Amino acid sequence: MPSYDFRCRQCGASVTHHFKTIHAYSTATPACPHCQSTALTRIINGVNLPKQTNQHHFANLSSQEMLGVLESGDQRAVNEMVKQVQQTTQH
Ligand SMILES: [Zn+2]
Repeated sequence: MPSYDFRCRQCGASVTHHFKTIHAYSTATPACPHCQSTALTRIINGVNLPKQTNQHHFANLSSQEMLGVLESGDQRAVNEMVKQVQQTTQH
């Protein structure tokens, strides 16, 4: 289960959120449990961005690698990855 660390820009707290799927992460708006602010900044720890994204193998990526794709800001790659992951999990 992917988990992501955030820092709250409102109160400075460190927050860890767990998401069932990468899709849940991409659509979620995590909030600070301390002050309920949604002004959270992702803290990226040891994410290895795939050097060359092979669009046919997104579903085989680790959650950390998927995170790297999300962080890359390549919206086409992100959409394709989410689509492939959904197809995989529907079997
Ligand atoms: Zn806060």
